[in-house]
This record gives sequence, structure tokens and C-alpha cells, in this order.
Amino acid sequence: MAVNESDMLEFHWLMDMLETVEVGLIVMDADYRVLVWNGFMENHSGITASRIKEKNLFEYFPDLPERWLKRKVESVRLLNTRAFTTWEQRPYLFHFRNTRPITGTAPYMYQNLTISPLSGADGKVRLVCLMIYDVTDFAASRQALERANDQLTQLSETDRLTGLLNRGTWENLLEAEYERCRRYGNESVLVMFDIDHFKAVNDTYGHVAGDEVIRKTSAILQASLRHADLAGRYGGEEFGIILPETSVEGATAMCERIRSTIEQTPVDTQDASIRYTISMGVAPIHNALEAPVKWIEAADSALYAAKEGGRNQVRIADAPHPG
Ligand code: GH3
Ligand code: MG
Ligand code: MG
Repeated sequence: MAVNESDMLEFHWLMDMLETVEVGLIVMDADYRVLVWNGFMENHSGITASRIKEKNLFEYFPDLPERWLKRKVESVRLLNTRAFTTWEQRPYLFHFRNTRPITGTAPYMYQNLTISPLSGADGKVRLVCLMIYDVTDFAASRQALERANDQLTQLSETDRLTGLLNRGTWENLLEAEYERCRRYGNESVLVMFDIDHFKAVNDTYGHVAGDEVIRKTSAILQASLRHADLAGRYGGEEFGIILPETSVEGATAMCERIRSTIEQTPVDTQDASIRYTISMGVAPIHNALEAPVKWIEAADSALYAAKEGGRNQVRIADAPHPG
């Protein structure tokens, strides 16, 4: 069959397109020998087509997920249908540097992958084509969006000054803990505490110094907590701690440590070294507590008793009377 000049021309510009298109194109035979390796692949891998042609792909790229890719390719070949994977399933097939100027912060090129069967005139699939799409821009912006959303969620759950859970979030968790203890009979302890004579701190040293005292209190608190403990800022200078799976003795010992650390750790501001104390109320969960709010009231009464008793102390709630 004679090949005329216009067919040749068409072939030329088709090849030109495949060479320059911003998609990686690889054609391989059944033994994973590379037959086509376009300009995109050359540019990003640094390996020229003439070097890799007729060579086994996995020999040149030992880091490729060989088992995974072979399974995909074999099913494409067998079923004679295309297969796709996205960067979310697998961030990349080829570990290429990210060369985008704007999204240069991404550590590597994110890729989507399409695997296409190439059938001959007899309809048999002898070759497969891998198409590699650079989706770094998209992936980077999607990830930035997800990070922003996480931050927003975190902001709406935490208190700005201290980074502790805010009151609403903490109260929700308290309710959940209350229900859990009711259902399973677990031990759990609630602690409420309050800075002593805090008004005087503000009046003497100013509001900014007062804020610093609140921040320092929360830092000491956080350093004393175990992973499962939940601390929240309940009000201005009032804090709540949920201590799941904790005995009243264990909780009291922990409160004593926090109380004494705060007593011994002055807050150094530009103008003064501020010494202060806290009072704490401890209330273990109890069957007679009919609602979460009753649990808070029990801890608050113990806190009140600590204030009445002279402040700078830990008090345990009396066992509640039913009804
Ligand atoms: P007590 O020992 O009985 O707890 O005395 P107190 O002075 O700490 O008690 P009170 O509840 O009357 O005072 C709390 C003060 O805390 C009043 C309020 O102006 C101040 N306050 C509340 N929130 C903040 C805050 O975020 N920053 C600062 N600096 N002060 C706050
Ligand atoms: Mg106070
Ligand atoms: Mg108060």
C-alpha cells in the first residue's frame, strides 16, 4: 500500500502533538518494554526516549509500585477497558519534582493516571498506554483548602486566649462523658477550678497581665493532663477538666500537683512577677447525679467550699443525696 504525502504529513504533526502535549505518554508491550516515551516523560524523568526504548520499565524505575501497577495493567489488558486512578488514591506514579512556579511548595508532582488498552486490527490488546496527568496545582489548592477548613474547625472549638476547648465544645464532651458513664458504669471525675482574687490581679497589674496569668494557668494545666483528659475554659478565669477512667484519689492527687505548681510558678511580666493561687472542686460521677448540669453543680459546690475554706486548696464534693 502506497503511503501518500498527505498521510505522511498527518503522521508528522500527530507525532509532534504527542511529543509536546503536557501529558506523560508511555506505550508498553506485554513484557513492560517501553515503545513510546514522549517529551513530557523525557523532561520530567531526565531519561530520553532513545535510552529507555525497548527496555523494561521497572528496570529503569525500581521505585515504581510494580505489583500494584502490574495488577492494574493486566486487568486493562484482560477486560479491554480503561482504568483510572487519582492523586487522592495514590499521590503519584512517577516521583517527579514539582516544577510549577506557583505551587512550588508541593514536594513532588501529583499525578492522575489513566491506563488504556491499545488493540490491533484483530481486536486483540497487545499494548497498553499510560497517560500521566500533572495535577499538582489542583492537589495543592485542594490541600490548602482542607488545611484551612481544619483550622476553622479548630478555631470554632477552641478558646483563642488559651487554646483550650471553648465552653460549648467542652460542655458537649461533658454530656457525652456523662452518658457514657451512665451506660457503662465507668469511673470519671469532673474538676472545676477558678483563679483566686483574679479581680485584684487585673486591678493591680492590668488586663494584659491578667491575660498572661490565664494563659500561664492553662499551660500548666495542659502540661499536667493525660491524653484522654479534656480541659476547657469555662469562663473568664474558670476552667473545667474531665478525667475519664480516673478515681477520686487519682484526680485529687493530680489537682494537688496543679495547685502547688501554680502556687510556686510566678508569672513574670515586664513590670512585675505575679504570684497567684487557684481553688479547685473535685466531683466524681455518681448515680444520684440526674443530669450533666448536676455534675457541674457538684464540682462547683466543692469549688465554693474551697474558696470559703480559705482558697488555694482542693475540695472533694460531698456524695450527693438522691432526689
Ligand atoms: P475569687 O477568689 O472569689 O475567685 O475572686 P475573683 O476576683 O477571682 O472573682 P471574680 O469572679 O469576681 O473575678 C473574676 C474577674 O476576672 C472579673 C473579670 O473582669 C476578670 N476576667 C474575666 N475574663 C477575663 C479575661 O479574659 N482576661 C482578664 N484579664 N480578666 C478577665
Ligand atoms: Mg476567681
Ligand atoms: Mg470566677
